[in-house]
Amino acid sequence: MRVLVALGGNAILQRGQQGLASEQRANVQKTVEQIVRMIKAGHEVIVTHGNGPQVGAILIQNEMGRAAVPAMPMDVCGAESQGLIGYMFCESFSNTLAREGVTGRDPVCLVTRVEVDPEDPAFAHPTKPVGPFSTEEAAKKRIEETGETWISDAGRGWRRVVPSPDPMAIVEKDVINDLLEKGFTLIASGGGGIPVIKRPDGQYEGVEAVIDKDLAGELLAASVKADLLMILTDVPRVAVHYGTPQQQWLERLTLAEMESLEKEGHFKAGSMGPKVKAILRFVRSGGERGVIASLDEALEALEGGAGTQVCRN
Ligand code: ADP
Ligand code: MG
Repeated sequence: MRVLVALGGNAILQRGQQGLASEQRANVQKTVEQIVRMIKAGHEVIVTHGNGPQVGAILIQNEMGRAAVPAMPMDVCGAESQGLIGYMFCESFSNTLAREGVTGRDPVCLVTRVEVDPEDPAFAHPTKPVGPFSTEEAAKKRIEETGETWISDAGRGWRRVVPSPDPMAIVEKDVINDLLEKGFTLIASGGGGIPVIKRPDGQYEGVEAVIDKDLAGELLAASVKADLLMILTDVPRVAVHYGTPQQQWLERLTLAEMESLEKEGHFKAGSMGPKVKAILRFVRSGGERGVIASLDEALEALEGGAGTQVCRN
């Protein structure tokens, strides 16, 4: 089976960790061991991942280093984070595949751009907080000088917010399909991809925004005609009435059943909401099956025995 695996933040950095390279390497190694189980079972795996803490750290480094070296714009910081995380995955995959005696599945990490619509309503309403906290004075100076949007975050200071537009197309789609054809294990569209717009003259241009990695993962799955979209996170299943005494884990549902639960509002925006939305889009547009599961049950979830499974009917 061709499987698109979208990894959550916990695959690279656990809650409460500092963000040391050694911590991230150790987490990535554990994640890769799960994925190599899938590869050894005969599946073709394409990996995508979040980048919140990593791009956050890069933005802080840029902000604090501003006096000594020029700060980079957000699209460039996003590309840096794809390289940083992709490199760690490539290192772990090479070593783990070699140790397990798997050949012909060499890893490759692709700096990936994702096209968004400049008319996307998200551009009028930036919602996604990024980068360091700041004082009111410094934030107001930045608003004045750059036109950026900064908001006060109750008690924690001021923070920049950027738009989160819907992903429309993967610029590197053909390259990606070529690489898959050759058997490479691909790490692509990290952090939801680098958001770019196509100008009226047909030229691409990076924009200051972030794309949700679950929705971008769905677009990638559709772009490579994956049989299965797997979103791996830090809970074993999706729940209704999550975090209440009425909470119930969901095991297997049809598309229509999941659609009606979504309408009832069980899935929080910013966490489970985009995952469910991505799975629904995938199955609605012809995908066989979508799964939301915990990273440590990856192969079991692929085989249908763990996680929340959503099938067409
Ligand atoms: P990731 O980095 O994997 O995208 P998120 O924090 O964005 O992780 O989303 C996973 C989190 O969603 C879980 O840790 C859980 O606390 C939360 N969550 C919100 N609503 C639900 C729900 N209905 N069922 C399960 N988990 C939920
Ligand atoms: Mg998330």
